[in-house]
Amino acid sequence: MDSKKDIRALSKTDLRDFFVANNDQAFRGNQVYEWLWQKGAHNFEDMTNISKETRQMLQDNFVINHIKVDQMQRSNDGTIKNAIKLHDGLVVESVLIPTETRSTACVSSQVGCSLDCNFCATARLKRMRNLNPDEIYDQVVAIDQQSRYYQNHKLSNIVFMGMGEPLLNYNNVLAAIDKITSEEGLAMSPKRITVSTVGLPKMIKKLADDEVKFNLAVSLHSAIDEVRSKMMPINEKSNLAELLEALQYWYAKTGKRITFEYVVWKSINDKKKDAEALVAYCKKIPSKVNLIEYNAIDDGEFQQADPKAVDLYIRTLEAHNIPVTVRRSRGKDIDAACGQLANKT
Ligand code: SAH
Repeated sequence: MDSKKDIRALSKTDLRDFFVANNDQAFRGNQVYEWLWQKGAHNFEDMTNISKETRQMLQDNFVINHIKVDQMQRSNDGTIKNAIKLHDGLVVESVLIPTETRSTACVSSQVGCSLDCNFCATARLKRMRNLNPDEIYDQVVAIDQQSRYYQNHKLSNIVFMGMGEPLLNYNNVLAAIDKITSEEGLAMSPKRITVSTVGLPKMIKKLADDEVKFNLAVSLHSAIDEVRSKMMPINEKSNLAELLEALQYWYAKTGKRITFEYVVWKSINDKKKDAEALVAYCKKIPSKVNLIEYNAIDDGEFQQADPKAVDLYIRTLEAHNIPVTVRRSRGKDIDAACGQLANKT
């Protein structure tokens, strides 16, 4: 193991201080910072406006833990799935989802996941560790480059819907988003970023208190406690009522509507009473519903509901003026669709 420090764990101020402490000038810190974050330098030799001695000094003290796109698969529909190798050999996945007008990056926040949602492939991997802010940021940069290359336009949106639970890696996810949205990073608007969570009430309240500007999506999948607990064990620890209370707190503070992600499964939540429960829940909090197609994860325990059941949901929601969209699955042929990350890797 390399005991040198990851230089990108340092803020700009830290870097400036480092140079001053080493008998150099503070602005050297700015230069190095620019190399690291705007110019995406992978090693110290690339920093051509820094003297050879200084580069060597940096080399002696720090490492640049850059991610590596280890494997890239392109789907028939243009979706690109990347296996990303981290400095310690662990692998996460990030996906580029293109449409005519947009390019969305779906990024990971943890290696594996601790939440055991029984329909998700990532849940079968144990949680190994959190990603660092720069590992999250690098995924976005890598996908932005792919978007420019294959789609001829830059990245337009980011969703934290890859591997892991972003709110269990709270500080690093927020630090990465800071960098993504800052002028010194990618200068992307937080309005184009969505963090998706299983719905952890305490952390949702913390987001509201921290006055974040990005969007929040919650994986609901059922508005009936027994059913939700069966699919998502986290619901046993914090039920729908607690979740609702946190979401109301979020809305009061941010004024931002929640997106509920929702899969309709055969024989699990495909009845009228399920759709009605969802309507009743949505009426208590400004929200919209995104119905997600289910992507089977090998063993066939769960199945996508009949299209009629999905129609029933759409009609029931629309009858109550609750906005609903249906998300068509992308990148299925390469296991890049929601919940399929970690299938066959
Ligand atoms: N931990 C976060 C983000 C990762 S999952 C969360 O739970 O929201 C991103 C989305 O994919 C979630 O809505 C999740 O419920 C959904 N998902 C997981 N497995 C799926 C599958 N097999 N088919 C369709 N969607 C799935």
